[in-house]
Amino acid sequence: MFKRDQKSSRDKNDKNSHHFETPREKKFNHETAYILPEQVCSAENRKIIEQALDAPITRIPIQFQQYYLNYQNKHQRQFLKYVNYIGQLTFLIYFFVDWFLLPEIVMISAIARLSLVLGAILINIFFFRYCKNINILDSLLPIYVAIAAVVWLGLLYLSQSPLVHTYIYASVIFILLGNLCIQVSFRYSIFTSLLTSAIILGGVFNLVSFQEAILFSFTYTPVLLLSMYISWNNTLNSKRNFLRVLLNDWNYYALCQLAHTDELTQLNNRRQFMQMAEKTIQKWPKYNLACLLMFDIDFFKKINDTYGHDVGDEVLRILAEISRQEMRYTDVLARFGGEEFIALLPNTTLDEAIIIANRLCQKIESHQICVQNKFFFNFTVSIGISQLQPQQNDLNLLIKNADIALYEAKKNGRNQVAIYSYK
Ligand code: GH3
Ligand code: MG
Ligand code: MG
Repeated sequence: MFKRDQKSSRDKNDKNSHHFETPREKKFNHETAYILPEQVCSAENRKIIEQALDAPITRIPIQFQQYYLNYQNKHQRQFLKYVNYIGQLTFLIYFFVDWFLLPEIVMISAIARLSLVLGAILINIFFFRYCKNINILDSLLPIYVAIAAVVWLGLLYLSQSPLVHTYIYASVIFILLGNLCIQVSFRYSIFTSLLTSAIILGGVFNLVSFQEAILFSFTYTPVLLLSMYISWNNTLNSKRNFLRVLLNDWNYYALCQLAHTDELTQLNNRRQFMQMAEKTIQKWPKYNLACLLMFDIDFFKKINDTYGHDVGDEVLRILAEISRQEMRYTDVLARFGGEEFIALLPNTTLDEAIIIANRLCQKIESHQICVQNKFFFNFTVSIGISQLQPQQNDLNLLIKNADIALYEAKKNGRNQVAIYSYK
């Protein structure tokens, strides 16, 4: 049932495909796209986010600004697109007010309003399709508002109607639309508010008497201030919301790490191994090019008893590190039990797996442990190998067979590799 692999058969010069691309195990296996890449999730960065959330005026820390813009690009793009169309529709609908109140300029009004809206629609189509910069999309409508205010005041200049004095109050719609649509950055709101207000107030003071213009200013200014305040609050809420989502991501990463990682060795734990190995095996159902190594420290109890549990733990960490260095990025390595480790090697022939297992034995055997600079000792492992059979992708059977082979390696004297044979 068993084939024994002699140490003499180890190919020391072998440089097969397992020697090796990326030594680190991939820790997280998310299938969902999260905002933060794993590397950004340091304790220091988390503190920075918490401080930003606690501050009375929320600011996005510089290192997260690009993530903030990406996030807003994903979530506000649609809103900004629709609010732009609503603004343009409003501007068009006011043609009927012109028709009703200022009939002598109805033709010019139609041409001016239509050409402005058509121009804006064309610009919108281009920007909302190709522009990735959310700040530009955010400031499109406020800029249109400033231009529309100029055109509208021009229409009022051309009119001789006494109703212009009442009609000027419709200009508060401009400032309301321009400010309330802003979602990402309040800075643009300040700039476009000042520009639009300068245009409207300048126009009104030229159109009507001084007293009427002052009266108008008393109506206009509270609307301006209120809309700016709402815009400021909207952008603050956007930032707070983003920072909270970042913290959620963070907690998710931390939980995943706890659930999937063995604390002592920082390898995958048994649960994570079963999940990852199952997925990996299902990817190779036809080719059957997968092998499983199960390895166990020889006389580990003796190491614990002689040098203490702490040294035993250190031996486990060293074994994990050596094994990690011997694995490819695609291999699934885990601490399976107390002093038992397991590695699934996808896309690996039995011959390759034997070479890898032997090299692992050798590396471990040649590593010297030093205790308090006084005692030196070496330790060894025994390894059992099983191979995925044609038309068979039962992970539990693969593990069971590797375990049987491991038992055989122990029985035959330890510090060696045994292969489970199906013949
Ligand atoms: P064999 O060569 O047959 O494998 O002998 P062994 O002594 O290694 O095997 P045995 O199963 O008798 O002993 C395993 C020991 O591993 C017992 C247990 O105390 C120890 N152990 C399990 N987990 C840990 C751990 O996390 N840290 C330490 N230091 N020891 C551990
Ligand atoms: Mg053991
Ligand atoms: Mg054991």
